[in-house]
Amino acid sequence: MMVFSNPVGRGSLWFDNLTTSDGTPVAYDPQARAFLPMPPFCANREVIGCNWIAPEQGAFCRSCAMTALAPDPSIENAVPNWAQTEAAKRWVLDNLGRWHWFRPEDPGTRPVFHMLAEGLMPVQMGHANGVVTISVAEADPVVSTSRRKALDEPYRTMIGHMRHEISHMLWWRLSLREDFMTEFRAMFGDERMNYQGALQYHYENGPPPEWRQYYMTSYASAHPHEDWAETAAHLLHLTDITDSAVASELGSPEIPYQKWDPYTETDSFKLIHVAADLAMRVNHVNRAMGLSDLYPFILSDMALHKLAFVHKWLRRGAQGL
Ligand SMILES: [Zn+2]
Ligand SMILES: [Zn+2]
Repeated sequence: MMVFSNPVGRGSLWFDNLTTSDGTPVAYDPQARAFLPMPPFCANREVIGCNWIAPEQGAFCRSCAMTALAPDPSIENAVPNWAQTEAAKRWVLDNLGRWHWFRPEDPGTRPVFHMLAEGLMPVQMGHANGVVTISVAEADPVVSTSRRKALDEPYRTMIGHMRHEISHMLWWRLSLREDFMTEFRAMFGDERMNYQGALQYHYENGPPPEWRQYYMTSYASAHPHEDWAETAAHLLHLTDITDSAVASELGSPEIPYQKWDPYTETDSFKLIHVAADLAMRVNHVNRAMGLSDLYPFILSDMALHKLAFVHKWLRRGAQGL
């Protein structure tokens, strides 16, 4: 994520800021990728702290307008959890916009979001025909920690869910292209194999013993669709780690030059190499505070090639350039 200049004074603004350090209200313009000191603010600003601008007074911003279903506010913590979920969504949408996805220049379908709170029934996250369903309960730290343990996924985060589910939607968009499908099946396998059966097999039997050689995560081994979504989520993690490090002027001798933009890099292997190097350095910084590593994943040769494939197609962007 970029670091932004303050339109009314000195210093920088961070992507989630609602005000400057002296309290002046500001809003983020996703088209200009800059902060403005004036309305129209998003209609969700007071409700969930959305800091994006709206096209007109009383309207939703570009991100909130993609949410067709908001959670039932009578469910405990639904609104604060939803606020955090929308913040993760804005972050990921802005990242993807760097490759022109879902911006006005993108002629394709936008995702529709169903943001659901969990009452008595758990909410199954997923994607179907352009609709992304997210359980906002996972924004709650207690729920998230217990599921991390139960599912043995220590790096389960809301931004990770958002990247994973939107990646299914991006696959659905790309699958309209025959050239994509031919290359996809050659690398990830045939996604027409029985999905429910494959998932059930995975949950009953676990991943194949040598999964680390071929997949980013054990869940990715369940089915080609999940392999794509896990790999694409990791490519988005790695690109954003790199972009955020460059924007905040963290150093690595691997960064090619000072104003290098990871989102315009065409050499996939170079981008992944810089990302892995930066992640290793930040892992070391995190240990200074007794925190978990930022990015503890090991990239096998096969994973590198899959990440590069995802990068090639996401970078070409919505316009297929
Ligand atoms: Zn909004
Ligand atoms: Zn999935």
